[in-house]
Amino acid sequence: MENRGVNTGYPLWQTWGNDKAEKWIKDQKYKEGTVTNATRPTWGDYAQDSISVFKQKTIEGHAVRATLLATGITAVALESHDPQYMQTADQLWDNMVGRRMFVTGGVGAIAHDEKFGPDYYLPTDAYLETCAAVGAGFFSQRMNELTGNGKYMDEFERVLYNNVLTGVSLSGNQYTYQNPLNAHDHSRWAWHSCPCCPPMFLKMVSELPNYIYASSGDNLFVNMFIGSDASIRLANKTLVAVSQQTNYPWEGKITVKVDPEKESAFSLSLRIPGWARGKENPYDLYKSNLTSSYTLMVNGSLANAVINNGYAVINRKWKKVTR
Ligand SMILES: [Zn+2]
Repeated sequence: MENRGVNTGYPLWQTWGNDKAEKWIKDQKYKEGTVTNATRPTWGDYAQDSISVFKQKTIEGHAVRATLLATGITAVALESHDPQYMQTADQLWDNMVGRRMFVTGGVGAIAHDEKFGPDYYLPTDAYLETCAAVGAGFFSQRMNELTGNGKYMDEFERVLYNNVLTGVSLSGNQYTYQNPLNAHDHSRWAWHSCPCCPPMFLKMVSELPNYIYASSGDNLFVNMFIGSDASIRLANKTLVAVSQQTNYPWEGKITVKVDPEKESAFSLSLRIPGWARGKENPYDLYKSNLTSSYTLMVNGSLANAVINNGYAVINRKWKKVTR
């Protein structure tokens, strides 16, 4: 990652054409087996390689590459807590979600080079590749893991339901590559000469069970409202069985069952989506006239919970379910 921006420049693809540009790379810069930073040509902004990643304040270039690079930057931040990585991940996410993301969570407005457009360039016939949506989802999930802030899972949820799931047909064997808001032709394809989107869709779906719950210390997080059963060991060593029953997003009712192996005090943090609190987008890129609210109950009684970082935190002693 830190090699980004360390190169000898790039040929003028648009002006010279592919053949001449490729010849330039081969003749002038690449000497078989001897490519070093001093001889490395680059694809420039398209490949997030024109300047150091730490100087990249806006998310640029090929949208799949950009979102996956940002996911990687966040993964490094998670491991190292290096402030440069943390700040870069933060800035890229803010720019993506605050200025370059569609109401469906889709990213990568421009068909040419499959890339991000400038700030606030959000046309209804935008490109919005399924793979880029998957990349944006991975990026948001990692940011949630890094910061413990629920707003990142709000955007994960937005893109999952509106620009990732659109990528596959109900029959499960047809796919979209582009997901424009005003598609004239709604039919999906069975195969494509560049078959990147079906496997990216599968990567997301196979990781999804890991994204429903999370834990940090003695805090159990419910991030996604998906019917599920899980066992999570908290820092106090208690093993907690947690399950959900819901028909979300079609219906709003969510039943969460919490069953620790023995009576135990810990926090249950339930994500309260921004849209249920009058905040459709963290930067007000989108606003909704719909008024939504939420009610929280514990064992049938109204529960008071403080909202902290996008989560309703219920701190109490949880009993083992008697059978
Ligand atoms: Zn793709």
